[in-house]
Amino acid sequence: MNLNCCAICKVLKKNCDSNCIYKAHFPSNDTRFEDVNQIFGAEIVANIFNSLESEEQRKIAANSLCYAAKARRRDPVSGILGMVQHYESILNYVEQEIKLAENELKTNVGPDQVPKYVDIPIPDDFLVKREDRKMGDGHRVNDASTSAGPSSTLPKKHE
Ligand SMILES: [Zn+2]
Repeated sequence: MNLNCCAICKVLKKNCDSNCIYKAHFPSNDTRFEDVNQIFGAEIVANIFNSLESEEQRKIAANSLCYAAKARRRDPVSGILGMVQHYESILNYVEQEIKLAENELKTNVGPDQVPKYVDIPIPDDFLVKREDRKMGDGHRVNDASTSAGPSSTLPKKHE
């Protein structure tokens, strides 16, 4: 087995050469593959990769598998569904807060003075790519997905 063997070929004890379709996504030193292998198994991951036609599809699959494996490790019962439900509950909370604020504005300034959604200016950085936008605590947005989850608490409602 050569030292440049990718993580999948290493587990499957296959010959790994320069034409290996897994190598670019799970190189030998990729620590993410430990979770992916434990949750899905190298054979299934290899089958998924073999069924895909482009590098772009394999890149998306690799990232999705890593994300799902990490979510499953953090929440063995709900996995990625638990994260979706968590973010949906945050979204519902924010929507309720917006409705309350709209109602308060209607009461204070009159129903015809409340700006419609289309009138609200979009921030300049709204369309900035996610990886270019940094979080306030020094982590990138992509890192935030590892710290937020079903165990996180929702913001307290203002009284
Ligand atoms: Zn390989």
